[in-house]
Amino acid sequence: MMRSIFYLLFFMIMFACKNDSKEKAKLNPILEDTVDAELEIDTVSTKSESEVIKPARPGWAEITEDEFTKLDLRYATDNNFVEMQMYDCGRCFVREEVYTGLENVRSELKEKGFGIILYDCYRPRPVQQKLWDKVPNASYVTPPSRGSMHNRGVALDIGLTDAKGEILDMGTEFDYFGKEGHHDYYDHPKEVLENRKLLKSTMEKHAFASIRTEWWHYSYVIGEYEIAEWLWDCQ
Ligand SMILES: [Zn+2]
Repeated sequence: MMRSIFYLLFFMIMFACKNDSKEKAKLNPILEDTVDAELEIDTVSTKSESEVIKPARPGWAEITEDEFTKLDLRYATDNNFVEMQMYDCGRCFVREEVYTGLENVRSELKEKGFGIILYDCYRPRPVQQKLWDKVPNASYVTPPSRGSMHNRGVALDIGLTDAKGEILDMGTEFDYFGKEGHHDYYDHPKEVLENRKLLKSTMEKHAFASIRTEWWHYSYVIGEYEIAEWLWDCQ
């Protein structure tokens, strides 16, 4: 009798297990689908979250294009003096204070019927290193150990446009490292000298300083900022 009960129990357990594994096998694809669906939802929510959070990085602001602002971020292309793409994508970030300073420049130029074009903004230190590895010459590239104003998020490489967005003649291309690109080179047409003067006087009025050898380079002079490392999101 005991033996029969034992066998009966044994077969009942075996049957239950078999059924259970069948159920699991049937459930698995559904389970995987669900996991995938959950992952997809996760990815989507992370993506939209990063789009919201990254531009709002504390202390930083992003300059985007508008009717009077063009972006031609050359280090996101190979159209630059090292002929190599340095950024995964072109985005223009600066410190908040610099953004506010540039807002004043933009509105003053806009009133006069001019716009701006930006060639470079914040440049993360690892990119400075890449640039230095390619051109280890302090006449053209600031050594990464010292860090440039671009690495601190306070420098802008900038030119002028007219009200229609046409780029104005500044005498040379951006990143032209010859005497014609210097502020104290006056052998340019009157129109070029006037364009440079307008940019320089407006920038200086709003706390941006120039350097003698690059008509396009300005850095914000109020406050001191650390070299920054962070890279922007390209999604
Ligand atoms: Zn510069």
